[in-house]
This record gives sequence, structure tokens and C-alpha cells, in this order.
Amino acid sequence: MNVFVVNCGSSSLKYQLINIDTEAVIAKGICERIGIDGRLKHKPTGKEEVSKEVAMPDHKSAVSYVLEALTDSSYGVIKDLSEIDAIGHRVVHGGEKFASSVVITDDVIKAIEECNDLAPLHNPANLIGIAACGELMPQVPMVAVFDTAFHQTMPKKAYMYGLAYEYYEEYKIRKYGFHGTSHSFVSKRLIEILGKTGQTSKVIICHLGNGASVTAVQDGRSVDTSMGFTPLDGLIMGTRTGSIDPAVVQYIADKKGYTIDEVMDVLNKKSGVDGLSGVSSDFRDLDEASMAGDEKAILALEMFAYRAAQYIGAYVASMNGVDAIAFTAGIGENDDKVRAAICQYLGYLGITLDEEANKVRGKEAKITTADSKVPVYAIPTNEELAIARETVALVK
Ligand code: AMP
Repeated sequence: MNVFVVNCGSSSLKYQLINIDTEAVIAKGICERIGIDGRLKHKPTGKEEVSKEVAMPDHKSAVSYVLEALTDSSYGVIKDLSEIDAIGHRVVHGGEKFASSVVITDDVIKAIEECNDLAPLHNPANLIGIAACGELMPQVPMVAVFDTAFHQTMPKKAYMYGLAYEYYEEYKIRKYGFHGTSHSFVSKRLIEILGKTGQTSKVIICHLGNGASVTAVQDGRSVDTSMGFTPLDGLIMGTRTGSIDPAVVQYIADKKGYTIDEVMDVLNKKSGVDGLSGVSSDFRDLDEASMAGDEKAILALEMFAYRAAQYIGAYVASMNGVDAIAFTAGIGENDDKVRAAICQYLGYLGITLDEEANKVRGKEAKITTADSKVPVYAIPTNEELAIARETVALVK
């Protein structure tokens, strides 16, 4: 059974075709600059990557090119579209309507549309991808997998803000949390490694990528997470501030003569380790600059680790303990220096890092010593596989 996994952004579309029986990726790729000009990069497993400049005025044309690439006689991987059995769509925001993945129907599309205000940059793009696939492959069942769904198990005391209650009632302003597919996938794997499936468990997942969040997972359910109403909250990220005093928004607006939109642009795109260091949002560049003695790069890395360690501490308190911690995503899977810097704050939990084991990159490994009171792991995330698994579970 083959699942086509689609992750549609405002001007891009990432895809994978996954054979769910073997969980192997048959092909993957990306359409970029949709609505501008258009570029398709298609990588069939075991064959050379194909890169093409093709006119993509809209997402429907992008999906058509992807389907052509998948069925092409030289670089294709399937004979025809009948070999696609189901489609899994990443959808960013499911609001309070979706606590799990769902088979896409007209009613589901309407309900996703109703969440557009909560994710104005992402949800409309996700819906365009759903419509394009629906038109081109009307017979294939589609499933929506939400970034927010895993966090719908948070208790009210964790997801409410200290705003007057009417803002929640009228506008649904609350913490939603994101990266849910990744936190769900990695926490399941960690609980499996611990041999605690079906038992009580307390784990903390640190998804450290360009976007970054920490989640407390108790008995397999998210009980708190660091991103909030939007993905801007929580950790210091590649280009996002993470949590700051909201009064800063007005102060910058006044000082710079910026509109709220312009200030939000600063907070989302020109801040984080990128804005702090003036070097880059990429931790490989930051590591290099810090080794060369760049003081702002060193500070940005210190702040990143400090904030992550603070969230871990907060979630140990939320759950009154922790059985294990996992690092995942681009930085969490690959950056031993960042993992070590965070673990340095965790001595009070009896955590001792195994420096040799911590050198691991992109592979699953325990990075603490045998006598560490709390084991810490690096666990690669795989959001596409998680989406494919969810899709199959619902359409089978
Ligand atoms: P993601 O958003 O999960 O794709 O993560 C992307 C980020 O991971 C990049 O911006 C880098 O900061 C970081 N990253 C990827 N590979 C490495 C590496 N080998 N060492 C350090 N950081 C890395």
C-alpha cells in the first residue's frame, strides 16, 4: 500500500511517496516558488535527483507536475496513479475541533476553514493542497493530520492564558502547541525504548529544529508544551524570539514607527539565534562562529541551551518527575554541543552525559551513561512516516 504524503506551504509543496508495508520512501521531493515561477526537485529512491524549472502558477499545477514525475517512464516510481492508495495531508491548525487525524470530507474541509484565522499563513495553503489533490485524484481517500491535535490532551490549567476568560470564549485564545506529529512519534518511540508501553510514563521531548518546542508527555499524552497560541512562543528559535514580555511589541512599534504586522515580522523572522548573533539561524554556522570566538554567536548558543533547560525543568515540575528525555529534529538529532550544553543544567536530575555516545548524528542513541538517573536519547523524528501511518490507520 502506497501513501502520498503532502505538506503544502504558501509557495511550496513537499511530498513523499511511502510504501507503508515496508515503511520505505519510494520517492520524495519539493515544488518551490509556486505562484512565482516554479521549480520541482524530485528524488526517486535509488536514482538521481531530477531538478526542473516549470511554470507553477498554482498548487494544482504543482501537484500535476509531482504526479507526472511519480509516473514518468524514466525517473518515475509507479506505473500509474492507481498505485497511490491514500493521501495524507499535514494540516497545521485543527483548533479545538480536531484532537486526532480525520478522513477528509466536505464537513472536515469546512471545519479546517474555520481554523484559518488561527493559522492564516498555513491553513489556507494546506487547504489548497487538499483541493488540488482532491481534483486530480478524486477516487483516493485523503486524511488530514494536524500539528495541534496531539496537544489537545493538555489540561485546561496548562492551556489557558491569564487573560480574562471572555477572550477564550469569544476568540478561542489559548495555548494550542505545534510539532504535535513529531512529539507524538518521538514520545511513542521513547516509551517503547523504555519498555513502558501501556504503563505509566513521564517523558520530555525536545524538538529542536529551525522551529523548536519542548513537550511534557505523561502516559503517552501531551500535558504541556512550549509553543502557544502560535509557534512564536517558548524556546528561542532560528529566527523567532520565543517567549518575551508582550509589552515589547508596543515599545518597538512606538520607537521604530512600525505597524503591529511589522513588529510581528521582527519577532518571527528577524530574531532568535539569527537576530542575536547576526551570523545565521543555522546551528552549523553558529557552532563554527562560536569556535572562532564570535561573542554574539556564543551568547546566542548559551541562551538557546539555557531556555531549553528551563523548559525541561518546568516540565519535570509539571509531571512531578521524568523517566527519560529525548532530543529530536535537525539540531536535536545532530548537534552534540547543544545537547551537551542543555544536559549541563540537568545535573540535579542525576543526568550524566556519555560524551562519546553523544557524538551521534542523525541516529537513535542513548547519550547518557549507564548510571545516569534519567536516560537521555537522541531519536530521529519522521513526520512524513507518522503522517503515512496515521493515514493508513484511518483508511484501512
Ligand atoms: P529542522 O527544522 O528540523 O529541519 O532543522 C533544521 C536545523 O537543524 C538547521 O537550521 C540547523 O540549525 C540544524 N542542523 C542540521 N544539521 C545539523 C548539524 N549537522 N549540526 C548542527 N545543526 C544542524
